[in-house]
Amino acid sequence: MTQLHTINDQQRLKLAPLKIPNRLLMGPGPSNVHPAVLQAMNTPLVGHLDPAFLALMDEIQSLLRYVWQTENSLTIAVSGTGTAAMEATLANVTEPGDVVLVGVAGYFGNRLVDMAGRYGADVRTITKPWGQVFSLSELRTAFATHRPTILALVHAETSTGARQPLEGVSDLCREYDCLLLLDTVTSLGGVPLFLDEWGVDLAYSCSQKGLGCAPGASPFTMGPRAIEKLQKRRTKVANWYLDMSLLNKYWGHERTYHHTAPINLYYGLREALRLVAEEGLEHCWQRHQDNVEYLWEGLEDLGLTMHVEKEFRLPTLTTVRIPEVVDGKFVSQRLLNDFNIEIGGGLGELSGQVWRIGLMGFNSRKESVDKLLEALPLSV
Ligand SMILES: *Cc1c(COP(=O)(O)O)cnc(C)c1O
Repeated sequence: MTQLHTINDQQRLKLAPLKIPNRLLMGPGPSNVHPAVLQAMNTPLVGHLDPAFLALMDEIQSLLRYVWQTENSLTIAVSGTGTAAMEATLANVTEPGDVVLVGVAGYFGNRLVDMAGRYGADVRTITKPWGQVFSLSELRTAFATHRPTILALVHAETSTGARQPLEGVSDLCREYDCLLLLDTVTSLGGVPLFLDEWGVDLAYSCSQKGLGCAPGASPFTMGPRAIEKLQKRRTKVANWYLDMSLLNKYWGHERTYHHTAPINLYYGLREALRLVAEEGLEHCWQRHQDNVEYLWEGLEDLGLTMHVEKEFRLPTLTTVRIPEVVDGKFVSQRLLNDFNIEIGGGLGELSGQVWRIGLMGFNSRKESVDKLLEALPLSV
């Protein structure tokens, strides 16, 4: 008989029931979720083609249109994290040789560059030091040089805490018959966003930041100009799982099997979106703004300075300069070990220079700010 691999008694003893520390998540995401969201995820399963589940999918779609302020019918949740939804935007509209212009002023701009290249794009970049944003005239100059088919920008650069303004960008895109693709991962739910008014053709986000859900069900939307590009493709979308012409048969009228939706995550996303709607989108945005201003004041009172100019700072993520004399990593480790508070460190150009403090979704609360402001001086 075949020998069964076993685990020994010692290993068995170590396999105690799951025990995870209760942290206050004030880093770049995930953020803590509302208890109602956790409870929703705990709901018994139904099949992914069950009428009750299909009705829930419809609700997710209309709530996503609300939080994004769009009427795009192709607005869905991608089964995967924000990066999967990011990949879905590029995969569907990029064909080999397309000129894709990416604004790179942080870590996620670089990820877009890498991805677009993998779909055969002729990738061009426009860059800025991390923490700054692109002006309309800089974009205009880049358009004249590169004449892109797709412009990809990060609305809320989580690696730097900067918010990219979009006034005038869609007019520029239309002048050049170019699609506007926007990363709204750290802005959706926390930062004013008007996709249709701003003429955004494709956008993606995630569930675990401003929306306050667990990671794994990621908002995706595509407007009429982007759909036209998808329909006119000469080549198949190179990614089967994220091909919207297939996925839309599950989310749209046909309701045919594509993949098994992560049922419980969709429960959670629906509840998180419901909570935003209950609060009211404008109130939700205002709460994020009020709490971040309270955070900035408190940090300034401790003698700290912010990395980004006030006008362009995000309400969801703040980068704080680490003082010369302080060991930034030591501080974040103490915050975690002694106070159960997670904050983030710097990435790339800002590595070792900043802490990243997130106030996202359910965590954008005065109590969270107070806890951090109390613990921070004790952790140096
Ligand atoms: C977090 C993040 C992503 C990636 O999302 P994941 O859920 O981690 O895959 C993409 N873009 C930005 C701006 C982000 O902050």
